[in-house]
Amino acid sequence: MALWITDECINCDVCEPECPNEAISLGPEHYDIDPKRCTECVGHFDEPQCVQLCPVACIPVNPEWAESPEQLMAKFRALQSGQPPSVAPSSSDGPRVETPPSA
Ligand code: SF4
Ligand code: SF4
Repeated sequence: MALWITDECINCDVCEPECPNEAISLGPEHYDIDPKRCTECVGHFDEPQCVQLCPVACIPVNPEWAESPEQLMAKFRALQSGQPPSVAPSSSDGPRVETPPSA
């Protein structure tokens, strides 16, 4: 699963530069995660770096963006190759969801 940032974000700027996939950017209200680029840090680190660093623990998994470890690794490889990541779970793994849930 990709991760997402809730309204509890205090815009401390800590997570954005530490994301190895450049998945985090400042949104209209607070920092947001692009689920098309978030691999839960699979391929880079053993643990999600943003979760490790966030001082207010506001980065849960996105339950509407279900991905297996294999799909996360495939997304990592696509990002590394410069190709658009294969973003959506396959139809056999659940519904395709393009946007995170509203906070
Ligand atoms: S889990 Fe990793 S890839 Fe996903 S947003 Fe956080 S730092 Fe970036
Ligand atoms: S580390 Fe947490 S509180 Fe700080 S900007 Fe990132 S999500 Fe927001």
